[in-house]
Amino acid sequence: MPKTIIVSNRLPVKIQKGDQGLEYQTSEGGLATGLGSIYKEGNNVWIGWPGLYVDSKETEQEITTRLQESNMSPVFLSAEEIRDYYEGFSNETLWPTFHYFSNYAIYENELWEAYFRVNLKFCEEVVRLAEPGDTLWIHDYQLLLLPQLIRERLPESSIGFFLHIPFPSYEVFRMLPWRRQLLKGLLGADLIGFHTYDDMRHFLSSVNRIVMLTHTNGQVDVNNRRVLVDAFPMGIDYQNYAATAAAPDTIKKEVRFRTALGEVKVALSIDRLDYSKGIPNRLQAFEMFLERYPEWRGKVSLVMVLVPSRDRVGRYKDLKEDIDERVGRINGQYGRLNWTPVHYFYRSFPLNSLSAFYRIADVALVTPMRDGMNLVAKEYVASKLDQRGVLVLSEMAGASRELLDSLQINPNDINGMVDAIHASLVMSESEQERRMSNMQATIRKYDIHNWVRVFMDRLSFIKEKQDKMS
Ligand code: UDP
Repeated sequence: MPKTIIVSNRLPVKIQKGDQGLEYQTSEGGLATGLGSIYKEGNNVWIGWPGLYVDSKETEQEITTRLQESNMSPVFLSAEEIRDYYEGFSNETLWPTFHYFSNYAIYENELWEAYFRVNLKFCEEVVRLAEPGDTLWIHDYQLLLLPQLIRERLPESSIGFFLHIPFPSYEVFRMLPWRRQLLKGLLGADLIGFHTYDDMRHFLSSVNRIVMLTHTNGQVDVNNRRVLVDAFPMGIDYQNYAATAAAPDTIKKEVRFRTALGEVKVALSIDRLDYSKGIPNRLQAFEMFLERYPEWRGKVSLVMVLVPSRDRVGRYKDLKEDIDERVGRINGQYGRLNWTPVHYFYRSFPLNSLSAFYRIADVALVTPMRDGMNLVAKEYVASKLDQRGVLVLSEMAGASRELLDSLQINPNDINGMVDAIHASLVMSESEQERRMSNMQATIRKYDIHNWVRVFMDRLSFIKEKQDKMS
């Protein structure tokens, strides 16, 4: 029976060294849930890095055997490989470039070579496991070269690729010295998916200008093989978020949060600490809001959750300092004994705490400078069981294309953000309900399961079309 192989940088598992040896915890992230319906079935398998360094062949064998039971196959990477391929090329070259922060990008050939080598290592594992007729689905910016590497070894295979981050416009993408190799790497796939139509357009325009291939309705012929490029906005596990928001544990937590916060309106923001998320701009807007609307002082607090991320990279340390300073300044200037303007958490929370935060928030401030999709925006909407609450959403987030009933802002326009914060705090309940229920209808329908189904269907479609053409 042909199988499906999922490939991503990280396996959906967390392995920790405990007292009784290694402890395994499966991840509950959105992607892992969505792809659960695939990789857990039959002979299907998920290939990726297990997230820890292993120094002996015996431990590698132990992990491999254990993961096999849950349909996972590990690619072991050394600390050096993680430094150069993941933290280096992926996170310091591709991530800033693809998020329009080219001035943060570093261009080092050594990192590129490590990226190439690790992509090759993933390819070896795929080739070891793949059989004729299998379908492969590769994920994200750490593995842009993998589709073509596999194509060279297994020319007949069916390969889908999905990019979870934005694809930048040609003028930005072309700054990468390895632009041509990256595009050729991707074009090894049969189906290339992006979150939005704009990302797809940007990709096709780079293909056109850099490798001189034109497209018709998103179809590009690469060495007589037709490649389909399309937009697949990723959804969330809507039912799970709605059910968690209704769970007694969550409601208990909400009551505790409410008691601690007092009778204030709550603005909420939840992100990984990343420069793409527009956190300083958001704080600047909140500060200006308090300055401009003194009647709201003491009546609204910002609850800001920042999840530690990539904290070994200098850029992220500087950003953290900047944020700490801004929060300190706002609380120092406006705080009172019985009111804290910004409640700041630098850590992650379990799902039912996040859900309680979503429930309690009158406004969610999702203001990235650039974001492939932004799932927090969708999770907030899914958690508002009473349809109250307002989503303030950056037009630079992929989610803005679907969540048309949010209050959309440009994160560079601080005045616009101040106005949106004010408008959301004074919005009538009936308007909140109208907007929220429209948004819920959209993301309930286009949930993560729908996303997986549609992507796989499109992959079969293009393979059939290729067969007919040959
Ligand atoms: N999240 C989490 N724990 C936290 C805060 C957030 O697991 O303490 C999750 C959140 O629920 C969401 C994801 O992290 O599913 C963030 O995804 P998003 O697309 O918003 O941004 P990314 O971090 O992928 O850039």
